Amino acid sequence: MKTIAIIGGGAAGMMAAGFAASAPETAVTLFEQNPRTGAKLRITGKGRCNITNDTSPAQCMENVVSNPRFLFAAFHRFTPADTILFFEDRGLPLKTERGRRVFPQSDNAGDVVAVLTRHAEMANIDHRKVVDVDKTKEGFVLTLQDRSQRVFNCLLLATGGMSYPKTGSRGDGYGFAQKLGHTVISPKASLVPLYCKEKDCSRMTGLSLKNVTLTVADEKGKKPVYFERGEMLFTHVGISGPLVLSASALLRDKSLPKTVYIDLKPALTPEVINQRILKDFESNLNRDFTNSLSGLLPKAMIPVVVERSGIFPRKKVNTITREERKTVCSLLKAFSLTVTGLGS
Ligand SMILES: Cc1cc2nc3c(=O)[nH]c(=O)nc-3n(C[C@H](O)[C@H](O)[C@H](O)COP(=O)(O)OP(=O)(O)OC[C@H]3O[C@@H](n4cnc5c(N)ncnc54)[C@H](O)[C@@H]3O)c2cc1C
Repeated sequence: MKTIAIIGGGAAGMMAAGFAASAPETAVTLFEQNPRTGAKLRITGKGRCNITNDTSPAQCMENVVSNPRFLFAAFHRFTPADTILFFEDRGLPLKTERGRRVFPQSDNAGDVVAVLTRHAEMANIDHRKVVDVDKTKEGFVLTLQDRSQRVFNCLLLATGGMSYPKTGSRGDGYGFAQKLGHTVISPKASLVPLYCKEKDCSRMTGLSLKNVTLTVADEKGKKPVYFERGEMLFTHVGISGPLVLSASALLRDKSLPKTVYIDLKPALTPEVINQRILKDFESNLNRDFTNSLSGLLPKAMIPVVVERSGIFPRKKVNTITREERKTVCSLLKAFSLTVTGLGS
């Protein structure tokens, strides 16, 4: 009989526990420090849990931003189709939404945890924290929170990363792995907000931009680090939202500062924007410049764009020159910010 210890009752640990326990001649113990399994899973996908994407393994790999080859075996040995079958076979009806994202029909991440917990219950679940690990000639020695010790033939670390430490993942596994002789590189934050130098951001805190493009420029002449269309928002120290979180994954290993450009009107060419500005101006020639942009910009952005344009806010629109209009167009097509750091 092979004895296996798994530390961590999250998605990875529960999946591994169930499959290991169903193999012949194994006795599996899953250690989870929280009173309930899957604490982080319960908050995923805004409480709905985006279980997988209904795509091929190759498409999955295309969407992994760094070192996709590392996941080649995992994606091919247990494909998105296998994941869908796994949950449906265990009585959880699923649905596929925009972007081929798969969710439980109940929109309840708790139902996903319930399926995984039932699967993991094929093993013995021990709700104690593992405080130390050691490798001796008897095997892997685990010291538990009450100082008792257990010895196992095999050990699997499934303690998660370091994000959302309140859910229990505080990085214990890195220390355990290091102690057992593995090389651990310092974890870097990914999918995080970005800090920006400009004070403009705090003036627009909470403003959400939909259907814009975000470009992260690299050195001159090089392909941009990131270019995508979607949603983002301003925070008091910089920018956040789906586009920004994705971009942050690509900035982890880049030197900062970097300039990012927001195209507020990606569907319109500068010429079309110029025509629209002219039309708006002509509808009321005596209007002040600062009062003429509401058709083109969200309210919170107007004072910032006016200031950046260098045009006197009270200037009458009938006196605004072609060059000045060009400046406004440039600001709408490439509103720039300087990223100075990654948030946490
Ligand atoms: C806000 C948010 C939303 C997300 N949304 C999605 C989504 O929709 N779809 C998706 O696929 N992914 C999503 N993710 C990512 C997903 O949550 C993680 O990839 C996943 O939880 C990782 O699973 P894991 O088992 O490796 O680690 P975790 O889920 O972090 O589990 C690790 C477990 O180990 C336990 N543990 C740690 N140390 C010890 C110890 N010393 N002794 C005993 N137990 C210990 C912890 O208590 C914890 O329960 C989201 C993440 C966040 C933060």
